[in-house]
Amino acid sequence: MRQIRIGDITIDAVIEREGPWRKPDAFFPAFDKATFEAHVPSMEPEVYDPATGMLVMTYQTFVVRTPHHTILVDTCTGEHKDLPAPFDFPGKERWRNELGALGLSFADITHVFCTHLHVDHTGWNTQLKDGRWVPTFPNAKYIFHKKEYAVWEKEYNEGRDPYDKIFRINCLPIVEAGQALLVDDDYQLDDLVTLTPTPGHSPHHCCVNLHSGGQTAVVTGDMMHHPIQCREPTWAAAPDWNAEQGIASRRTFLAQVADTGTLILPIHFAAPTVGLVSADGPDRFHYRFKRD
Ligand SMILES: [Zn+2]
Repeated sequence: MRQIRIGDITIDAVIEREGPWRKPDAFFPAFDKATFEAHVPSMEPEVYDPATGMLVMTYQTFVVRTPHHTILVDTCTGEHKDLPAPFDFPGKERWRNELGALGLSFADITHVFCTHLHVDHTGWNTQLKDGRWVPTFPNAKYIFHKKEYAVWEKEYNEGRDPYDKIFRINCLPIVEAGQALLVDDDYQLDDLVTLTPTPGHSPHHCCVNLHSGGQTAVVTGDMMHHPIQCREPTWAAAPDWNAEQGIASRRTFLAQVADTGTLILPIHFAAPTVGLVSADGPDRFHYRFKRD
């Protein structure tokens, strides 16, 4: 994704991996082959790889620079986490290199926002130092939704930490280091950066809104994983916490942003990622990349 500018804010993508990734029939329980194939010509060519029959998906962080703050939104899977497949993909140095190419060091980051606390959105939160997991960004405040954190803390306490480690190594050390801000739905960093609750994929998933110069961009986290969910908003993703709630969040959001000029930044959409939503009749939408 080329750098996006709205008013006084710039947004860049730092990619950890990209390319063909998931079979749609395995990722969407409501998958229907005829419906999917009918939608393929109406979607951007980058989002599906007909040769492999796989959805093209990216793992990336958005770097948001405002006049006052340098913010990361979602932090991919991180390194040295010893994760099981499919999160054991190699080449995590790409993420480091792309952040460095923006002229940023870990110490420059002032805030880390996590739209939710899953394995692929919290990885770079921490790094391994002298055998301990510590915050990767020494000067950053990490913004976690208070109730999202509480759910995963409970899961951890009851022996259900995802992959037996994600809360323990990616989230808990941030709180223990005193660098977490556990926030409510209405949290605002300032006039430029606000949250919208969009629960479903995770218990208290939030979108991160960026406002400047009369324009709005929204980092949508995993409220949707692929543009097929704009064509079929009722197609929940297999890992969703509460599929019905996720469908409701997606329908409400897509109807609100359609044809408004709001720039959409979904974490897993293939490059060039940033796009605009337009209505295509009731409860169906187009997702078009912003290519200029
Ligand atoms: Zn994700």
